[in-house]
Amino acid sequence: MTGPSHPVVHLSGVTKTYGDVHALKGADLVIRRGELLAIVGPSGSGKSTMLNIMGTLDRPTDGTVRIAGHRTDELSDRELSALRAGTIGFVFQQFHLAPGVASVDSVADGLLYSGRPRAWRRRKAETALRRVGLGHRLDHQPHQLSGGEKQRVAIARAVLGDPPLLLADEPTGALDSRSGAVVMELLHELHEAGTTVVVITHDRDIAGSLPREVRVRDGLIEYDSGRPAELADRVPQEITS
Ligand code: ADP
Ligand code: MG
Repeated sequence: MTGPSHPVVHLSGVTKTYGDVHALKGADLVIRRGELLAIVGPSGSGKSTMLNIMGTLDRPTDGTVRIAGHRTDELSDRELSALRAGTIGFVFQQFHLAPGVASVDSVADGLLYSGRPRAWRRRKAETALRRVGLGHRLDHQPHQLSGGEKQRVAIARAVLGDPPLLLADEPTGALDSRSGAVVMELLHELHEAGTTVVVITHDRDIAGSLPREVRVRDGLIEYDSGRPAELADRVPQEITS
């Protein structure tokens, strides 16, 4: 069964090994509906690996991943894609906007899986672009946009289908501090509107400014401000059942 009572993300004993690299060494993490949290740590500590696994883009070597109550190891690739399409939006440091494509079409392409007609998808895309303050940049192509604007297009695309969970991997990593602040403000707004938002960053200031901070080092969660102190010594199942 799934429902609002289930954590949006529940990692138990998650490890990930690439050859002889132990990128994650046993992560236990519960993210509840409506949270806004930072996953912070130095380069190479395993942050992106963790995000890719909680985003079901990658499967763990060991441990279990539950998304909105679904155990991902019990789903086929096809079922997992459907769960991902309906549940998770992604934002990456490098925007991933196709060159030569107008903002409105880049965003509308995020709804290709819906099977709805192009005009309908474009209308939804326009609404999403207005939501991120880019109603005046609908026909601009990536090379005509600033870095901050490109990231806002990418965010519009990510939230188009109103996913309950938004995963952002270093969303401000390629931006100057002013554009980065605008993007963070936007993520705060989405959180206030009800989206669960996970922000990966190596920026301690950004991490410290969010309601919950999870620190990752060398493939391990070394600190989690959202884990109640009185439960810190207990095993994860007791915390979350
Ligand atoms: P972060 O996002 O914190 O910088 P990553 O999760 O990208 O860290 O990487 C963690 C470790 O795993 C690093 O040592 C990295 O080199 C290694 N790694 C990540 N992805 C792969 C891969 N596909 N193949 C081999 N090693 C990888
Ligand atoms: Mg990374």
